[in-house]
Formats: sequence, structure tokens, C-alpha cells
Amino acid sequence: MAPSGSRSIRRGCKRVLYWIPVLFIALIVAWSYYAYVLQLCIESIEDTGEKVVYLLVYHVVFVLFVWAYWQTIFTRPLNPLKEFHLSHSDKELLEREDRGESQQEILRRIARDLPIYTRTNSGAIRFCDRCQLLKPDRCHHCSVCDKCILKMDHHCPWVNNCVGFSNYKYFMLFLAYSLLYCLFITATDLQYFIKFWTKGLPDTQAKFHILFLFFSASMFSVSLASLFIYHCWLVCKNRSTLEAVRAPVFRHGTDKNGFSLGFSKNFRQVFGDEVKFWPVPIFSSLGDGCSFPTCLVNLDPELPSSPTGSNPASKAATEGRQFPSKPLRESQSRLLTSTPSWSESDGATDKDKKGASNPAITIENEA
Ligand SMILES: [Zn+2]
Ligand SMILES: [Zn+2]
Repeated sequence: MAPSGSRSIRRGCKRVLYWIPVLFIALIVAWSYYAYVLQLCIESIEDTGEKVVYLLVYHVVFVLFVWAYWQTIFTRPLNPLKEFHLSHSDKELLEREDRGESQQEILRRIARDLPIYTRTNSGAIRFCDRCQLLKPDRCHHCSVCDKCILKMDHHCPWVNNCVGFSNYKYFMLFLAYSLLYCLFITATDLQYFIKFWTKGLPDTQAKFHILFLFFSASMFSVSLASLFIYHCWLVCKNRSTLEAVRAPVFRHGTDKNGFSLGFSKNFRQVFGDEVKFWPVPIFSSLGDGCSFPTCLVNLDPELPSSPTGSNPASKAATEGRQFPSKPLRESQSRLLTSTPSWSESDGATDKDKKGASNPAITIENEA
């Protein structure tokens, strides 16, 4: 009783400690609000027009920033659908087998009905021992959350949450708006920062807030800009941070561009089809997070030769049919089309589906 009790106390303490970085950010944001709105705009700026414009723009950016941050923190990461979990009988079957090869045989049989195309480095089916499930493509087990997370990007201590399929758009917007927030403060605070050194500011406590506001906003701008640029590159390439570190392995081998469909479609996979939702922290990503369209050929669709080439896979890519364009069995097709957001798959005709099962792009389907 005692060991399990102490374990749960330790787990509880850890859970509290994980919130410290979030609290730290929240305190900095709260102080920046006080320093900018009260000390800079209301106390120090004399021109009414300038004051009103700064306050208006500031509050728009502030609301979007806090909204995106909130959504990144409190959106629960999605776990694999129950189709990927082992059934009771399969679990028993797996337990009875002690040879790795026989276990793989069982897993391969289950995987046949699922839209799984990636493998481990050794070519085995990706199986999570802890969650007792077959990992969908791009899904990874997070040791902090102790769960399998769909399209896991990374576990972020600054939001005390896993960044994955369900909140990656929010995370991108959080980076964008926090960068905008810091840049706006830096730009508008600059002239008062200069006045501080030229003794142009009245000798009140406001001048120290103005000084530290400039230092902290410019410092955060640099680190946020580098992180934001890196994640923009990842979105363009359709890679998660984990996939950028280690390329996904398909049946035909490692392919770092395995999920890339070209810039426009990669972007829409995260931000959705409707332009009006792109800047808003509302869920609009495409797909169900369990299955992802892939070109299944060792060609980068972003290369100029491939989209117009005679390769049927890349041809389908240019015609906007790859949601989903990969060869699908009945069950896989059901899994994909059960999500209404794959709107393009709904409109696909039978002819399109036949086109998608062209032998040239069924490399992954062959036993
Ligand atoms: Zn797991
Ligand atoms: Zn996590």
C-alpha cells in the first residue's frame, strides 16, 4: 500500500511542478500588460491619438495571443481510435506467443485492416506496449503524458501539454501572436526607451517598466522568431519535430518527405481549407489524425519535375485528390471518410478511387 501511495504523491507533486513554466509565462504576460497599458500608454504617452491607436492594436494582439495560448494549453491531445487498440482475444493471443516473429505475425494481421504505412527501423509493425495498441502513422508515445499522441510533435513544458494533431494549429498561432506581441511592444516602446537614456522621461517608476519592457520584449522576440521560422519550415515540409529528427520509415524505406504533398496542401492540412479560420484559434485542421495521405513514392512532390510528370501519384497530387489519395482498402476508406473534414474525399468518384489504386502507387500495399 505504502509504495503505491508514495508513487501517487510523487506523481501529484510532478503534476504541480509541470505547471511552473506556464505560471512563469502567465506572470510575465500579466506584468507586461500592466507595464504597457498603465505605465507606458496611460502614464507616459501624452499624445491622445497615439495612446488610443497603441491601446487598440495592443488589445487586439493581446486577445489573440492569450486565446491561442489558452487553446494550446487546454486542448486535450487526441489518442488513437479504438480500431487501433488490441481486442481482448488479440491480447490473449499475443501474450501466449513468446517469439517476436510470431507476435509480429499477429500484429501484421491486425494492421492489414488499418491505414498504417509506417514501420519501425527494423521494418516491424509499430506497437505500443504500454497502451496496447498499434501506433497509427505519425503517432508516438509521450513519456510525460504516458499516452500515445496522434501526430505527436513534441511535449512542450511551456504549455504543459503535448503538441500534436489536436493543437498544432493553436501552437503555430501561439508562436505567431506571441512574436507579434513582442515585436509590437518593442517597436512602440523604442522611442520611450531612447528617451530613458537621453533623460527625456520624467523621474517616475514608469521609466523602469519602460526599460524592462523593451529588454524583455526584444529578447523574447529573438527566441520566438527562430522557433516560429523553424515551425513554418516544418509545416511547409509536412514534418513534425520528431520526424525532422528521425525520418518516418515506410515499407519501401526511410522517406523524410513521405507525408509531404506540396506547400499548399501541407499548409491546408494544418490550417484547413477556409481562409477565414486560418488566423483564428479554432480547430480547422484536416483529417482525423489517425491516417495521413502520402504519395508513397520516393519523390518529393515539391520538386518541380514531379507534379507535372507522368507519375500517376504526383498527377493525382496536382488534381487535389490526395485527401486521401493513397490506396485504400474498404476498412481504411471507411476510417478516412468517417471524418467529415476530409471534404475532398467525399467528392471523389469511383473513377478517382480506381485511379488511386493504380499499381504505380500501391507500393505500400504489396505484401
Ligand atoms: Zn502508448
Ligand atoms: Zn506529452
